Amino acid sequence: MSESFLPYGRHWVDEDDIAAVAACLRGDWLTTGPAVEAFEAAFAEVVGARYAVVVSNGTVALHLAALAAQVGANDIGLAPTMSFLASANGMRYTGAEIAFADADPDTGLVTPDTFQAAIKRAAGPVKMAVVVHLNGNPVDMPEIARIASEHDIVLVEDACHALGSTYRNETGAAVKVGSCQHSAMTVFSLHPVKTITMGEGGVIATNNPVLHERLKLLRSHGMVRGAEKIVNRDLAFARSGDANPWYYEMQELGFNFRAPDFACVLAHSQLKKLSMFAERRTQLKEIYDRHFGDVGELVKPLRIETSAEPVLHLYPLLIDFTALGKERARVMADLRELGIGTQVHYIPIHRQPYYVEHSGAVDLPGADSYYAKALSIPYYPLMTDQDAERVVRALRSVLGINS
Ligand SMILES: *Cc1c(COP(=O)(O)O)cnc(C)c1O
Repeated sequence: MSESFLPYGRHWVDEDDIAAVAACLRGDWLTTGPAVEAFEAAFAEVVGARYAVVVSNGTVALHLAALAAQVGANDIGLAPTMSFLASANGMRYTGAEIAFADADPDTGLVTPDTFQAAIKRAAGPVKMAVVVHLNGNPVDMPEIARIASEHDIVLVEDACHALGSTYRNETGAAVKVGSCQHSAMTVFSLHPVKTITMGEGGVIATNNPVLHERLKLLRSHGMVRGAEKIVNRDLAFARSGDANPWYYEMQELGFNFRAPDFACVLAHSQLKKLSMFAERRTQLKEIYDRHFGDVGELVKPLRIETSAEPVLHLYPLLIDFTALGKERARVMADLRELGIGTQVHYIPIHRQPYYVEHSGAVDLPGADSYYAKALSIPYYPLMTDQDAERVVRALRSVLGINS
């Protein structure tokens, strides 16, 4: 019997998502229409933030967050090295220098200690810091926020993996990732491998009305309209005193980072299924945890702090390939033969030639250790329990582990 290939991650788009997008395409607005604000309002409500701003992808969302925080060429931005490139690049686009923070070798997460160390190591004061809830597993936000505020750092959460995750605050109350209880802004990606999708898309959540205004302004060319904000009043108004209806003004360099209406309609439809997706992800996590929880030191599931209730985006195993005497590339090829897709998340960003050249070499051993062991196995809500059992059997046979 030939079995279907199981990739490491996959979107789930249903007929009702397709019908919603088709209805939008038949309507009057393909972009800058009512679907944008409708989705933003729904998203803000779901994550528990005052505002949400939708943009064309998650990378742009990180760039826009840095622009809104007024990060620029003379500033230093702190980024996690154990993340996707965009966690650093978003700040780098503004010209800021990047200082990298190391990761806990068992979780890949920035910790209060590695955060402190990166601030100390930086060549000057850090203006903005990005921390990533890698795999959907939240970083220690209360403590990291405390350190950030001591140093006057604008803290931004990269929650591209963590839509639906919660953690606990200082009083033990559950906090939704995206509610920005401990940060200025929280950034999400809605790329097809993420928890919900809009094809390409990103969202920035914030509770701060000034940041909200700046995010919207810079998303669309920095174009200002409206009498009270105009600088050149002689161009903006007729002699009669009436406003010239065509008039717009650019006071700051902005971009076109907008998302189209039909993509927002898809995201809005997907958002309604978030709790179903989250529940299914948790069920699959339990199957994997049951099988990999006590295999021993050489193959371990991710450590989750007991105070966090994550909705995992990826399911990584930490495999000691050296001790097992197996090469990771060989293991991946053998699994592929069995129809199992895997991926490595991520190559530490500080190891990228661009950043070695630009920011100089640094020694971040926690991230190197995590990177050496990480392997993401198939994990997405469309998988059946049988699919997950098949992944377990394949891994047992390829890694030569029993029990
Ligand atoms: C996916 C991702 C991004 C970038 O999002 P895009 O929508 O692909 O641009 C940024 N950070 C992390 C951690 C991601 O996983």
